[in-house]
Amino acid sequence: MENYESLVQKQRAFYRTGQTKDIHFRLNTLNKLQQAIQQEEKEILAALRKDLNKSEKEAYSSEIRIVLEEIKFTLDNLEAWALPKEVETPDSLGVATSVIYPEPYGLTLIIAPWNYPVQLALAPLVGAIAGGNCAILKPSEFTPTTAAILTKLIKENFPEEYLTVVEGEVETSTALLKEKFDYIFFTGSTPVGKVVMEAASKHLTPLTLELGGKSPCIVHSDADLKGAAKSIARGKFLNAGQTCVAPDYLLVHSSIKDQLLNELKSAVTALYGEDIAKNADYPRIVTEKQFNRLSAFLSEGTTFFGGRTDVSRLFIEPTILDHITWDDVVMKDEIFGPILPVIVYDELSDIVDTITSRPKPLALYIFSNDVEVQNQLIGQISFGGGCINETLAHLTSPYLPFGGVGESGMGSYHGQKSFETFSHAKSILKRTFK
Ligand code: NAD
Repeated sequence: MENYESLVQKQRAFYRTGQTKDIHFRLNTLNKLQQAIQQEEKEILAALRKDLNKSEKEAYSSEIRIVLEEIKFTLDNLEAWALPKEVETPDSLGVATSVIYPEPYGLTLIIAPWNYPVQLALAPLVGAIAGGNCAILKPSEFTPTTAAILTKLIKENFPEEYLTVVEGEVETSTALLKEKFDYIFFTGSTPVGKVVMEAASKHLTPLTLELGGKSPCIVHSDADLKGAAKSIARGKFLNAGQTCVAPDYLLVHSSIKDQLLNELKSAVTALYGEDIAKNADYPRIVTEKQFNRLSAFLSEGTTFFGGRTDVSRLFIEPTILDHITWDDVVMKDEIFGPILPVIVYDELSDIVDTITSRPKPLALYIFSNDVEVQNQLIGQISFGGGCINETLAHLTSPYLPFGGVGESGMGSYHGQKSFETFSHAKSILKRTFK
């Protein structure tokens, strides 16, 4: 098995020099990363086309732009975030001051998945750099062209004792996890999240787990159906449904189901054209294994729209499955593909009970203009985060910490939260004997 002891030792020695703590060093690194991404933009886009058939437009907006915006926001605010913060001191402690010093953890390990292989590798890296840490990044083996570009980009711009990419499969991850890190940031599936947490526990390493799950999308009787359909189609079929926060399934009030499904059909056609099989820009399923897993769902319920597949190009058409029940196999685990099952409801309380009896979702979407309905659902269901009358967009705001809860993950990041995630808050009480 591979051994990363010497790489970790090298990074530890570099961290001890103290250079990464210097605020100018961090800002320079972020500037350099920004430039490197801009310079390599064409190659990154080509890699995403090769690995997932992402179009330039989709790849830029859902991967590169998100990382560049994260860098810019961090560059604009890092100096303020990194300052020690004076807080109040209770009277019972007498004359003293209290200060919180953010300090880097030290060595960080970032493990990334394949579905947004640039964004989900580099956005956490921005947090690690901002916090003043060294980092080892392990991208997914299922998007090898992108992983190779990431390796090149980091290698050409930073010394490996500071930032480095280690490519490889599960064994590589396992070997890396044997080493002692000071923070681990994992994005991936819930089962692998458990493996990572167990490995982290051996060294008592704190960690963030950005996991998945079945994210419900609820469309209530009063919703604006045209607007809802557009947003759901965009959110569900982006990257052929291989998005952690994609609406996993639809819960639709029975009174508006037929109308909503017709609107969805029009929205999908408007997005991808009359014959999506001929749309060269529609992403493919990542591997044949995933293709086969997803294809098996297509026999469930009744196909309202879509349903065509082509294994030779790992193509699965955006598909809406009507007449699905909670007992169908497609309702068991996260779908992570362009298949949208539909379940109807009459009473909100019924769906609240069912959702809350299942693992806590990463995201939840509500389509309704009724504030009482919105508040009931937000108040009664625990989930990572979400949107009202929109899908996915909460993920792109640097002001909204992004993460799961329970089975969908722990911890969060983006914007200031990324800095905080990758920093330890060191609390100091200061007295003077004057
Ligand atoms: P995955 O868990 O299979 O793999 C993620 C990473 O972990 C890869 O780099 C992989 O090499 C590594 N890995 C796999 N098995 C491992 C093991 N046994 N020990 C150590 N490392 C291991 O996930 P994936 O298939 O790449 O991504 C899809 C999953 O990720 C979905 O469940 C999705 O919901 C989730 N996801 C979550 C977010 C989020 O931000 N919450 C974002 C994207 C994807």
